[in-house]
Formats: sequence, structure tokens, C-alpha cells
Amino acid sequence: MTDILQLGDPRLRETSEAVPEADFGGAELARQVDHLIEIMRQANGAGLAAPQIGLMRRIFVVEVTKNPRYPYKQPIPLTVFINPRIIAMDETPIEVIEGCLSITGWRGRVPRSCRVKMEARDVDGGTFCVEAEGLAAGTLQHELDHLNGRLFVDLLVNAKSLTTWDNYELFHRTAWEREANEINQSYPAGLTLQP
Ligand code: ZN
Repeated sequence: MTDILQLGDPRLRETSEAVPEADFGGAELARQVDHLIEIMRQANGAGLAAPQIGLMRRIFVVEVTKNPRYPYKQPIPLTVFINPRIIAMDETPIEVIEGCLSITGWRGRVPRSCRVKMEARDVDGGTFCVEAEGLAAGTLQHELDHLNGRLFVDLLVNAKSLTTWDNYELFHRTAWEREANEINQSYPAGLTLQP
């Protein structure tokens, strides 16, 4: 956890740089991505963006297996996004309770677009496209925001929705998990790789 920058670190507010063409397929980029994956897994994160470890490049990784932090989240296979961009979005809002490995111990309610299509490069430079809906769409938007210096606390539907993790467990978890299950039923596809 000590490797992850925390709220107030100015680097979390910067816009990260695109990975240059010459870096694709190289050992340095592969090493950086592996490091990001390792830190995400150590911290039990659903995703981690490069600037969160002080690497100011447009890279993020996501993975949801059975996650004790997020038992209601649908599985997402490990996916590495380099130089991602949104190519389509259904802005119908869903409200989700988010946390962030850079804002340890806090959660809050934010609006997210219900469906997003994103194009990105892999470590070897190949281009791929994913569509995500529901909570998975929220996860991609959260991680992309990191590359633009934006954090979930900037988007709160209401500052009063902020809660410590302990009080989330005590007062909000049951209601939120019910809501999350409804979102999962309305948007069952999660994250899917597009042909
Ligand atoms: Zn985050």
C-alpha cells in the first residue's frame, strides 16, 4: 500500500502523458505494466492507474476476481489499457458508491455513465476495443479519470455521501449491495472484448 500515492499528492492531479509509439513491445513498458498489476493485486484493487504509483503515463489495469473489497462486483478479466480513449458512451447515469486506493478508508456516491466503449493499445501495441456496462463501465471511467488528474471525490453526487470505510460497513453496505445487484441485473454484460 505504501507504494500508492494518496490524496493531496499533486501528481494525482496531473494529466498523464501518452505512451510513445517507440515504447510498445519494449521491455521497459512490459516491466511497468507488470509492476502496476502486482501493486493492484497486493492492494486488492479492482483497478490501478499508473499515476497512482507516480508513473505519469496513460496506462491503467483492471481486474475483478473474487474481491473482498467489492463482493458485489461482476468479474472482469485482467485487462491492460494503454493510451485508452472513449469511442462511444451512453450517458444515462447510474449512481455508484466508489472507493479508491489513493483515498484510503473513504467511499462516496458518484454518477457514472451506464455504458462505455473504449479503445486502447496493449503492451505490444495492438489495438483492442471493449464495451463495458453497469459497474464495469464505472470502473473504466474511474481509472480513465486518474489519467486526467480527476478523482471520485470531485464527482460526488453530494458531499454528504462521503463515508469512512468502517461506517460504510456499518450503515450503508446492505443498502448499497442491494442497489448494486439491481445495477448488475439491468447491465449484466460487465466488460466484453469487442471483435
Ligand atoms: Zn482510484
